[in-house]
Amino acid sequence: MGSHVRSTLIRLGFETLYRTSAYAALQPLVQGVGAVLMLHHVRPSRVGEFQPNRLLEVTPEYLTSILERLEAARVDVITLDEMHRRMVEGDFARRFVCITFDDGYRDNKEWAYPILSRFSVPFCIYVPSAFPEHRCRLWWLALELAIARSDTVKIEIGGRTLALACADAATKCAAFRKLYWQLRACADEAEIHRAVERLAAESGVDMVAETDGLCMGWDEIKTLATDPLVTIGTHTVNHVMLAKASEEEARRELLDGRRAVEAQIGRPVEHLAYPYGGRDTAAEREFRLAAELGFKTAVTTRPGVLFQAHRRHMTALPRLSLNGEYQDMRYFDVLFSGAATAVANGFRRVDAA
Ligand SMILES: [Zn+2]
Repeated sequence: MGSHVRSTLIRLGFETLYRTSAYAALQPLVQGVGAVLMLHHVRPSRVGEFQPNRLLEVTPEYLTSILERLEAARVDVITLDEMHRRMVEGDFARRFVCITFDDGYRDNKEWAYPILSRFSVPFCIYVPSAFPEHRCRLWWLALELAIARSDTVKIEIGGRTLALACADAATKCAAFRKLYWQLRACADEAEIHRAVERLAAESGVDMVAETDGLCMGWDEIKTLATDPLVTIGTHTVNHVMLAKASEEEARRELLDGRRAVEAQIGRPVEHLAYPYGGRDTAAEREFRLAAELGFKTAVTTRPGVLFQAHRRHMTALPRLSLNGEYQDMRYFDVLFSGAATAVANGFRRVDAA
């Protein structure tokens, strides 16, 4: 299913749930004990119709509204360590939320950190250790930039050449969706980087210059880490699709990524986010590896709230994405009720398989 079709369906689903108050009726059944929120970029919205990666960003105002809503609802905003304690000890007296950011973007420090500090709430940033070392490979962003400045794009994926027209916003969006998912489906991740690097070069996109400034350097991460409200987690070394790597490589990515962050912040790193985090990139083997390597918690991008039963699956935790496409507090209310994700998960409470 195309992501546009899917997002329209999601939007319709939310509207239906909201209007019928079905979510209120479902709430006792599905609300769980808490939730881990997932964010990427926090920054003011930009103009322009072609922003295919917009689902990875929310505005500072939206983040503020979420925190106000949590405060008004007297939901505890807690660290991942405290979440781990409550889960394993079975301390479910109060509903809780953890706030997490993936990838270590500089806007987290510039825009989100002042807001989070004002509310005195803890949060975690998951850092892929190559990103602060000027080795970030944000291919999804390079793909967007290449399509934005071209009328046609030609890309070679798996020995097949795809040529797509992309002269206006609608065809640019269609081209992005098609190429993004074709690339995601590559069995060998190196193929994605080769294809996008070639496309970027042909389109005059300087991948390093365009994406490097988006990620925090170690100095910035180390400064943030001195704040007791901040947890720095790991997100592998190279932001790899772990499930597509050999077990040896996956283990190395997990270990080396953790060690690199520990060496910088001088403190144990016990929390992991699987890059991409969907079924195709993090599954049973990765959940087992993370547990074997001693991570206290590991989060996916599978949508859902936390249930008591997740205490037996602490390296396979779902999250709720705060998504730039749905910056409406009603969507948050529905999401947080757990009804939308329960529908998506077919009412299975723990989707760890
Ligand atoms: Zn990521």
